[in-house]
Amino acid sequence: MVDDAAPDPALAARLARARAAIADAARAAGRTPEELTLIVVTKFHPASLVRDLVSLGVLDVGENRHQEAQRKAAALADLDLRWHFIGQLQTKKARQVRRYANVIQSIDREALVDALSGPLIDAPALVDGFVQVNLTDDPERGGVAPDGVEALVERVLETSSIRLRGVMAVAPFGEPPRPAFARLRRISERVQQIAPDATAISAGMSGDFVEAVAEGATHLRIGTAITGNRPAAI
Ligand SMILES: *Cc1c(COP(=O)(O)O)cnc(C)c1O
Repeated sequence: MVDDAAPDPALAARLARARAAIADAARAAGRTPEELTLIVVTKFHPASLVRDLVSLGVLDVGENRHQEAQRKAAALADLDLRWHFIGQLQTKKARQVRRYANVIQSIDREALVDALSGPLIDAPALVDGFVQVNLTDDPERGGVAPDGVEALVERVLETSSIRLRGVMAVAPFGEPPRPAFARLRRISERVQQIAPDATAISAGMSGDFVEAVAEGATHLRIGTAITGNRPAAI
């Protein structure tokens, strides 16, 4: 009977607060909340939490580790929700991720584009994709360097299995997020010169979504502000 229990009221309250804050951020930026897609990042949390979120109206969830995401997607196959893969992705795992992910937000190199391409017997013909941009000077962080974005976008446009939606980034540590998101917005404008439909900008987490909305983010990836602190690895 525990499985049928109503969602944790604290979870519902945090979600409501986040939605209200997102709407406020949109209005403060002269935008409308309808322009924004909220992706709740559920990494490290059990499938039951995702189920609770869906019962509260969440349609999009984000995961960053393949095995965990695969397990939860299988456990929740009865639900209608969109899975966004947002973590670093090994080339050899790429095809498996295509079997459950509706959106892959962390496309960061040509080898990954190649691995994601091509027909798959038991996966949809088309997956939505974002090119992840590294806004730091540290090549170890995820994402393609800004000066490599066009070449990577061209490579994505050559495939028939990825529909390019836009760009994705994480704000760097140790600098204010807004100028970093402003750089991402200019990169998005460059991308739209060669891919006019790729208008989406995935940026903004629990601590910086207000700044991201101010700089044109369309997709927010919010974890702890909604889920509470992440448990240890499951
Ligand atoms: C974990 C994660 C988030 C969410 O971070 P919070 O600070 O918990 O909101 C967003 N984007 C990526 C890529 C992540 O790995």
